[in-house]
Amino acid sequence: MLFYKKVIEGPVIVAKKCIFAAMDNFAQTIETWYAVNKRELPWRDISDPYLIWISEIILQQTRVAQGYDYYLRFVHRFPDVRTLAEAEEDEVMKYWQGLGYYSRARNLHTAARSMAGGLFPRTYQGVRALKGVGEYTAAAICSFAYGMGYPVVDGNVYRVLARYFGIDLPIDSTEGKKLFATLAAEMLDRNHPALYNQAIMDFGAVQCVPQSPDCPACPLSAGCVALAKGCVASLPVKQHRTKTTNRYLHYIYVRAGAYTFIRKRTDDDIWKGLFELPLIETPSPLTEEELLGLPAFRELFAPGEQPVVRLIRQGVKHVLSHRVIYADLYEVTLPEATASFPSYLKIRQEELDNYAVPRLVQLLLQP
Ligand code: SF4
Repeated sequence: MLFYKKVIEGPVIVAKKCIFAAMDNFAQTIETWYAVNKRELPWRDISDPYLIWISEIILQQTRVAQGYDYYLRFVHRFPDVRTLAEAEEDEVMKYWQGLGYYSRARNLHTAARSMAGGLFPRTYQGVRALKGVGEYTAAAICSFAYGMGYPVVDGNVYRVLARYFGIDLPIDSTEGKKLFATLAAEMLDRNHPALYNQAIMDFGAVQCVPQSPDCPACPLSAGCVALAKGCVASLPVKQHRTKTTNRYLHYIYVRAGAYTFIRKRTDDDIWKGLFELPLIETPSPLTEEELLGLPAFRELFAPGEQPVVRLIRQGVKHVLSHRVIYADLYEVTLPEATASFPSYLKIRQEELDNYAVPRLVQLLLQP
């Protein structure tokens, strides 16, 4: 029987006693490691649930190095629930520009507006009910801010537990999720949940890293099942590989005298809530001639207008989590008083910087 089965099912008293000893040792070892190796971060050792919430949402899909400056800028401008709730969504998106996964920013904004009197919820259920807050984030906020005994289970924690206990159940299977949740709750140091949660997350991020961890230097190496069995590199297991799709975007940068055209993305798709240049998407790559022949392209222009079209960039590759985008950029010159692009917002070209646009558009427009 595998070790983790013993942990969950607890078949014999003696085995359980050993496991409890191992659990104490596990938590203690990680906390001791943390005392020496803790990363100094601006959202550490604070108890303001709002600031912890912002940091956790930023870090959901973003590396610490990238999220660090975003966090500082965001909380400087929106230091509390009330300030965030009172802001316009476009401004919130501007502060998120370049971080990706923009639904996070929209959800933060919506959730801030849902907090009556600008008061952050004080119960686990209240925190969990906020838009965009899942079990992991609720556990992190409640343990860090309020010292509640909820275990966090993020990618780092999955990795440490899967390797230390030698668990090869897929972490994205129903059975796997249940087992890891139970195990994480068993391992939690209930006397110091905030300390333990931060310690195991850092341990996964710094010591038990995804590729080639330094196992000989690891304080858990003596009891690590994956190390003993030589399967460190294959754990944790994931059953579903998300399919990647290719998308082909043709952006049009209009120069109408001092003006250009943009619009806000409102569909339930990537970059919802951000602004973009006029865009035509096609199921496959197109040559300039093919694009100019498309009805969707011709319909952008007022009857009789003769735009001067120039291909500026071609096939710029931009990788998102489940999509690979290939983008072209066309420059289209029109008279300043043009009647083309009637459904777009006409702005002065230098005002483009005031709008939150996808990182890809920023890259395309760079000289
Ligand atoms: S011995 Fe290696 S695999 Fe095991 S917990 Fe430590 S770093 Fe992770």
